[in-house]
Amino acid sequence: MINNIIILGSTGSIGASTLKSISKNKKFKVTALSSNKNIKKLLNQSIKYRVKYAFIEDNRMYINYKSTFKKNKINLFFGVKNIDKILKSKVYLSINAISGISGLEPSLKIIPFSKKILIANKESIICAWEIIKKKLIHHKTEFIPIDSEHFSIWNLIKNENKEKIDKIILTASGGPFLKKKRKQITNINPKIALQHPNWKMGKKISIDSSTMMNKIFEFIEAKKIFNLKKEKLSIFIHPSSFVHAIVFFKGNIIKFLAHNTNMTIPISNALGIFNNNNKNIIHSSLQNLNNLKFIEPNVNQFPLLKIIAMIPEKTTFFETILITINDNLVNKYLNKNINYNSIHMNLLRLIKSPFFLKYYKLKPKNIYDIRKMINETNCYIENKIKNYA
Ligand code: NDP
Ligand code: MG
Repeated sequence: MINNIIILGSTGSIGASTLKSISKNKKFKVTALSSNKNIKKLLNQSIKYRVKYAFIEDNRMYINYKSTFKKNKINLFFGVKNIDKILKSKVYLSINAISGISGLEPSLKIIPFSKKILIANKESIICAWEIIKKKLIHHKTEFIPIDSEHFSIWNLIKNENKEKIDKIILTASGGPFLKKKRKQITNINPKIALQHPNWKMGKKISIDSSTMMNKIFEFIEAKKIFNLKKEKLSIFIHPSSFVHAIVFFKGNIIKFLAHNTNMTIPISNALGIFNNNNKNIIHSSLQNLNNLKFIEPNVNQFPLLKIIAMIPEKTTFFETILITINDNLVNKYLNKNINYNSIHMNLLRLIKSPFFLKYYKLKPKNIYDIRKMINETNCYIENKIKNYA
């Protein structure tokens, strides 16, 4: 039986890992791919995987390249928002590998047409898990998280009674500046901050990994997906990133999930593709297991960890405001409008602005509430971002 699959955000790092995972497996047929602007990569991928439908968000690219796609027997559409126009029934699986909060609407659009959905897009889970979950239940769509930590937790607890969970540890590599003092990285060039020691990822998540913001997002993501109280979750630095999550169960049983730092591993396993191990994997894994190290993170080194104390137990607009301020600051840093130090300095100041406090008691009801809050946040902070020395 052929399994049809749709990959949203196929031109990015997770999208490419997904295509790599299925490239030698004849059980999968790619139905549709999507990108934001990268039309050339989208065209190459569509030709290589003999895809019938491709989606691009950039209108100019759509107009300029529609006929090129047509010549290659591919229907190019403007915007993933039109995906429901081509789908007549549910596909076997879809994966959302779009970066940023723009991934939320595509998740909601594709759920009714998917038997199973793999969501890498953490921003949408953090801001709108309740909205996504409602849709998953309504359309009987199975969900598997594929952020490596969350895939690991999902895998470790799927056959367990949740009441037995005592504590879950999310591991963090510590990023490229683990051994540096804060004053050494005040003005660090984005090129250096993007060099993650263990993972090859998109730009945004690489910067978030260096500041530890990614782990705070993953803390919120785990809290929501697995419906946990904050006290059940902790973050530990594990520089080799071999272990992705550790679950402590009542009865003194500890389970952890380990694998090399390659996103094709959680993706392939979520897709049910189990390739044979190569000869060296057991030997190198045992070496890795002999050298496990877990260190409590230091808030002076990673000041953004202070945000954990502010995370509300129940979803409010806090998550949307946090994601939006951080997105804005990371973009400004990548465009060299602010220095590295200014990411955490601005974030810790702005998130406590009296203007936002009233929203931390309110809950978004739908995607329009979230969109409105994103706009309001961006407008409010625009003239308040400083470049710190
Ligand atoms: P990339 O930046 O490498 O890729 C992002 C993809 O999304 C590209 O295909 C891009 O298209 C597309 N895209 C960007 N903006 C939009 C938009 N506004 N509308 C539609 N499509 C858009 O990101 P990653 O693959 O690294 O990350 C994707 C998601 O997965 C993120 O949410 C990230 O946090 C999460 N994640 C990533 C991990 C990793 O190892 N990379 C690990 C765990 C989670 P284009 O190429 O045209 O720009
Ligand atoms: Mg992760």
